[in-house]
Amino acid sequence: MADRTEHPEQRDHRTIHAGGEWLEAVSGATREILDPADGRPFAVVAEGDEKDTDLAVAAARTAFDEGDWPHIPVVERAAVLHRVADLLVRDRERLGLLESRDAGKTLEEGRVDIDCVADAFRYFAGLVATEAPGRVVDAGSPDIHSVVVHEPVGVCALITPWNYPLLQASWKIAPALAAGNTFVVKPSEITPLTTVALIDLLIEAGLPSGVAGIVTGPGHTVGARLAEHPDVDLVSFTGGLVSGTKVAQAAAPTVKKVALELGGKNPNVVFADACATDEAFDTAVDQALNAAFIHSGQVCSAGSRLIVEESVRDRFVAELAHRAEKIRLGRGT
Ligand code: NAD
Repeated sequence: MADRTEHPEQRDHRTIHAGGEWLEAVSGATREILDPADGRPFAVVAEGDEKDTDLAVAAARTAFDEGDWPHIPVVERAAVLHRVADLLVRDRERLGLLESRDAGKTLEEGRVDIDCVADAFRYFAGLVATEAPGRVVDAGSPDIHSVVVHEPVGVCALITPWNYPLLQASWKIAPALAAGNTFVVKPSEITPLTTVALIDLLIEAGLPSGVAGIVTGPGHTVGARLAEHPDVDLVSFTGGLVSGTKVAQAAAPTVKKVALELGGKNPNVVFADACATDEAFDTAVDQALNAAFIHSGQVCSAGSRLIVEESVRDRFVAELAHRAEKIRLGRGT
């Protein structure tokens, strides 16, 4: 069963965060998180449902409507985001290992993911801090003063896929916070652990209570409720086409803002002149191999189709197959 000593992140099943408090699921249900390297459970999280989602949305709504976060100067929000990045750098090894074990990616990829997460927080902190507070627009008449002012949207529901758990979450959480929104994030039910850990870092960095919410649980309950919820102003979803379609349908009756990042089927194109020398050929094969097989090929931007110019086709495919046979599967570490 779950190993508490090795993985303190499991925090006794209290992985739902609403209104500044860590909670169990209202129903008391839990879910074991499996290590894909051996299929054995190594952590336990709360299995939230619609009731937990409603609690988290209500807390995020109150924090937006009555709290300071949307109104404080952007430089203060940016400072919190920079502190989050510093904490991510501090905890890089712990979080990289956790991501590797949870998602089954190599430890090195887990570490690089955490670096990119820290970069995302710094990027959005910089973007918002340097933006002019209002852009004057020529309205065609000296009697009209027209200014474009950016305002936060409100409560954002952020739904993420399993394969790049914290990276996908950060690309939603960092811009949402930078712009002054509050949020409820729903990580994939199979890889939620680093997103839970990030909430702790947000709190440590000084984010006001209630601004950040998380509900661990399945898509058809937690995700679906977030998408339809009348108190959610925006839903940002990354995942597969089938789930994305359901999110768009659930969000339609309340006409909330919807952002969907869905699956892909990406071709790599190799021309003969890119293989003109042995060194160039070697690089092209390696890149094609990496594009198709990194993270076991379970990447939205994976090079899952390969289009090779006919004159180099046979040599290219033979070498690619030869190298593919040498790929070792196993524990990410
Ligand atoms: P998925 O669609 O099964 O799940 C994604 C998220 O949606 C999960 O949190 C899931 O619980 C939730 N969900 C499921 N049903 C839902 C519903 N009815 N309402 C609301 N939420 C629901 O995808 P996955 O297997 O976790 O991830 C793999 C997919 O994500 C692949 O298709 C991949 O191409 C895609 N992906 C896309 C990008 C991108 O940037 N475009 C990045 C990474 C992954």
